[in-house]
Amino acid sequence: MPALPEYKTRVLLENHGVPMVPAIFCQKIPIDLPEPVVFLKAQIPGATSRAALGLVRKASTTDEITNGLNELLEAKNCQGVLIAQAVDIKKEYYAACLLDFGDGENLAGGVLLLSTEGGSGIEARTDSLHKIRFSLLNPPSTSDIKKQISDLPNLNDVADFLQKMITTFIDYKLTVLEINPMAVLQDDSLLAVDCRAEFEQQAVSKKNSELFELPETTSGNKTNLEILVEAINADDPAGTGFFRSSREIAPEAAIKVATNLCGGGGKMLWEMAIGGRKDIFPLNESDTSGGLSGFKSYRILRAIMSQPDAQVLILTGSGMAFQNQYHLASAVWKALRESSTPLPCLLRFGGTDQEKAINLIKTVDEQLPVQVKTFEPEIFPNAMVEHLAEIATEQRVKQNFSPPAGELAFELKTPPARFIYHPDKNPDFKEPVCIKHCPTKYLMWENNRITANPDAKCIGCLVCETVSLLNGNGELTIELDLPGEVL
Ligand code: SF4
Repeated sequence: MPALPEYKTRVLLENHGVPMVPAIFCQKIPIDLPEPVVFLKAQIPGATSRAALGLVRKASTTDEITNGLNELLEAKNCQGVLIAQAVDIKKEYYAACLLDFGDGENLAGGVLLLSTEGGSGIEARTDSLHKIRFSLLNPPSTSDIKKQISDLPNLNDVADFLQKMITTFIDYKLTVLEINPMAVLQDDSLLAVDCRAEFEQQAVSKKNSELFELPETTSGNKTNLEILVEAINADDPAGTGFFRSSREIAPEAAIKVATNLCGGGGKMLWEMAIGGRKDIFPLNESDTSGGLSGFKSYRILRAIMSQPDAQVLILTGSGMAFQNQYHLASAVWKALRESSTPLPCLLRFGGTDQEKAINLIKTVDEQLPVQVKTFEPEIFPNAMVEHLAEIATEQRVKQNFSPPAGELAFELKTPPARFIYHPDKNPDFKEPVCIKHCPTKYLMWENNRITANPDAKCIGCLVCETVSLLNGNGELTIELDLPGEVL
């Protein structure tokens, strides 16, 4: 796993209010040198045992600061030097958050380690070690933590410190966050003196890519599919639609997985499910969340599915999504019907209307061109991935879809869509069943034609088309163009 240097890990912790030892980061000798005594720490990503390697110096005079900076700034791969104020420490603790992959008794989540002794060799100090498992989706409050470390002095401050540390770990989707030492000062206040973080590159959100130094995301060197998804977002800005192709080369024998991950929770669970596995290769990062429409979900799914090397699609969120899951399932069904190379899918629906979503896919299962498995939100992605091999395809299914001819009922600009009425499917001019299922009353039946209600709004949910195909006679279909070529 890539590691962040200390000066960057400090930024993550400071952003969440964790008290840090005062320090400045410099890449050349500052004009105003801080007052000694200070510690000079070379900032080298991934470097451990810095003190033993001479990469940490105590400087008790300004000359020692200047000389130490001159030497450390020359060290190999050094990004700069952190000049940290020396503090009067009464006691040292050790604290770390790690990913915990679960076992027969415990669900996957995070684990907080706290030892009332600082320094290295934490594994050997089981007597002083508190081990607190926590949920990543529902992290513990300060009072929850207090109950688990009730034997410690200065309980309120320690619990508050640890709660902020856990929040940092979860918000940045880190795999390791370590503070060593966590110092108790003479006045009993707490400070993080040294810290380090490890992260999974594919879990870093786009907005944090600069902080985590992911060069590919800032280079402007975009793939065609990334440009296509940006165009989808420009056409239909509501909700998040993020897609990024992997820049790495897939190992020969790995299963190549296209991912549609919904929100930070989906992304985190997926990362936990495949962490360290060499037999599963995600072809892309993704995030569809923030209440995006079914129309937009469909378009982004088509982009994700069109990755030529993909053997299987996995779709999962946190299990508690705000996005209506029936609308999402309608988008999946439409994408599988209309893609020229549909992908076998593992689908985990969790959130509003999750049962309707699962029932929809089960109802249409026999018509689907590929194998699809659905999962309840209680089944975590680490169990889903065990089904990847059995449904991954060596040879993509090919199909030809052309939209059935009909009459343009009306067209929407945002989200962009054409609603097509098929009078041949309705010879008796009865009100089609889709009309009464439109949740916003946008669809109307007037003069034997489908029209749009000017006083209502279409939310792009796809329910009308789904109901028309399942419960009606296919009187209404929706054409959703893509702003570029996909399979
Ligand atoms: S017309 Fe109604 S049912 Fe159809 S997509 Fe729009 S809001 Fe949904």
